[in-house]
Amino acid sequence: MAAPRGIVFDMEGVLHVGYQPLAGAREALAALDAVGLPHVILTNTTSKTRADIAARLDSMGMPYAPERIVTAGSATIAFLQRRHRGKRVLMLAEQGAFDEAAASGGLNLVDDWREAEVVCLGGPDESITYSHLQDAFRALMEGAAFVAMQRNRWWPTPAGPGLDAGVFVKGLEYSSGRRATIIGKPAAGAYRAALRVLGVKAAEAMMVGDDPVADLATAHRIGMRTCIVRSGKGSAFPTPWPTADVDLPGVGDLPAALRL
Ligand SMILES: [Mg+2]
Repeated sequence: MAAPRGIVFDMEGVLHVGYQPLAGAREALAALDAVGLPHVILTNTTSKTRADIAARLDSMGMPYAPERIVTAGSATIAFLQRRHRGKRVLMLAEQGAFDEAAASGGLNLVDDWREAEVVCLGGPDESITYSHLQDAFRALMEGAAFVAMQRNRWWPTPAGPGLDAGVFVKGLEYSSGRRATIIGKPAAGAYRAALRVLGVKAAEAMMVGDDPVADLATAHRIGMRTCIVRSGKGSAFPTPWPTADVDLPGVGDLPAALRL
């Protein structure tokens, strides 16, 4: 197939698992760079800044500029800066999300729910208490806009499934009768944010992910080409996968599939 004009990579399960780079990942990124095919990373992380992620990738031999990484956190901050410019934001999130906000030009953050014009939920954090949720709930009942970085149900941890942010988003939606604007995958806004960084249109870009539901369904819907890799979670999904244009054992096979 003809090479796309830009690639969007999911990260975990595609480029690495934990701190172990996947076979051929370094070489695949180098092959894209060698022919000048631009690529970006799109991840639902909210607990780490783009600079943290870039440092982690660098430690695995995959240098990546922070500006070419889009996280659910950075995409949400950009959304707030664009759509709610200057508004007072009550943010419930991990420290990494606050660090990303500071590193990305800042938000007008407030602690008092009575001042909040926007409620923004990040990932789950042990510091989030009933009283924080109560504050968010009251701000929503007073008409504050409702934005969430992601709505995932759970994620795998070494100790078993971990309760993700969905419980807070859904719970506050239920109690307040309000609907949150979700920014992270699988919401289309996340892909649009990545395409803006990539500088190409959806139809010219390819999404590469190991989870065809979480990574590829929306990409397919908005007109991107899609590539499932069977590393990470990828082996758990049936073959063929109906909305995958390309089906590969791993990202190391991508350069050959694109005839680079
Ligand atoms: Mg993944």
